[in-house]
Amino acid sequence: MTQNKPIILTGDRPTGQLHLGHYVGSLENRVRLQDSHEQFIMIADMQALTDNADNPDKVRSNVIEVALDYLAVGLDPSKTTLFIQSAIPELNELTMFYLNLVSVARLQRNPTVKSEMQQKGYGAEVPAGFLMYPVSQAADITAFKATVVPVGEDQLPVIEQTNEIVRKFNNIYGDVLVETKALLSTNARLAGLDGKAKMSKSLGNCIYLGDDADTLKKKVMSMFTDPEHIRVEDPGKIEGNMVFAYLDIFATDKATVAEMKAHYQRGGLGDMKVKRYLLEVLEAKFGPIRERRAEFAQDKAAVMEILRQGSLKAKAVAAQTLYEVRKAIGVEYF
Ligand code: ATP
Ligand code: MG
Repeated sequence: MTQNKPIILTGDRPTGQLHLGHYVGSLENRVRLQDSHEQFIMIADMQALTDNADNPDKVRSNVIEVALDYLAVGLDPSKTTLFIQSAIPELNELTMFYLNLVSVARLQRNPTVKSEMQQKGYGAEVPAGFLMYPVSQAADITAFKATVVPVGEDQLPVIEQTNEIVRKFNNIYGDVLVETKALLSTNARLAGLDGKAKMSKSLGNCIYLGDDADTLKKKVMSMFTDPEHIRVEDPGKIEGNMVFAYLDIFATDKATVAEMKAHYQRGGLGDMKVKRYLLEVLEAKFGPIRERRAEFAQDKAAVMEILRQGSLKAKAVAAQTLYEVRKAIGVEYF
């Protein structure tokens, strides 16, 4: 490991394939950061089980799907360590030690957990594992002594809670753990095909990285535009028009987009034409990613071997931290 690079811990829950929202929200950054940072990317299957205990097949089958997405976008296993959370039992032992440093009331106050609990309709019957997942995240982050955690604004309370645990631990047992910093993603969140604020698996308004050309075309053609733009010659609205929102994000030829916007607004430019242009733009960017994904998918054993190697490497790092933690607490007896 190159010791002078900042260390990143990040990852995704394997509850489905990754979509263009994940691409602009995190994947693009991770590909960029893998050269300047020591990057650990975790497929968080343990965390996925905290609210999918009754559906382990969904979690299990999506581990490889998420790995395929990672490899397809250009995460390089020789630069980035890709690993599976459940393959590192050390993380769970760290979680157990940290749980003693956190009150139930504090967990219930965590704004991220609170809003997710509301969304999922959990009351007092919330799975205990779900309630304490910020502690498990603190274990993930500190196991790798990660100094940088890329997050969206909504995840900031998790970083705060991690650092509270770090300070409390170091206070009681001595300086072992390292505080971490949030790296706020500057990218706007990607809206859904339907015009909803967020592209999200559970809303069914996603373009997946693995979507084939036909599916991509159908999805683009179904995108929400301006419902009042009925005849081609009518002036159309840009605001809230998903096709232009996506062009703003993905098109590199800004002049053409500006020209199309002006034309659309004064009338005479039909939705179909703009959608066809967006399809071209998305094909150019995501076509090669889809092809790479399909190539990796032909040899799933090789992909699992990448995850196995990554997990071995991650396990060695986490085991070292766990050893230091156990020694500091005084439970290394033998
Ligand atoms: P679910 O519907 O199950 O919540 P999702 O599609 O919203 O799934 P998550 O697993 O919740 O995906 O997303 C994990 C992380 O990916 C988010 O915290 C965020 O950083 C990023 N992300 C997800 N969707 C988007 C989006 N539309 N735009 C930008 N970033 C996104
Ligand atoms: Mg979500």
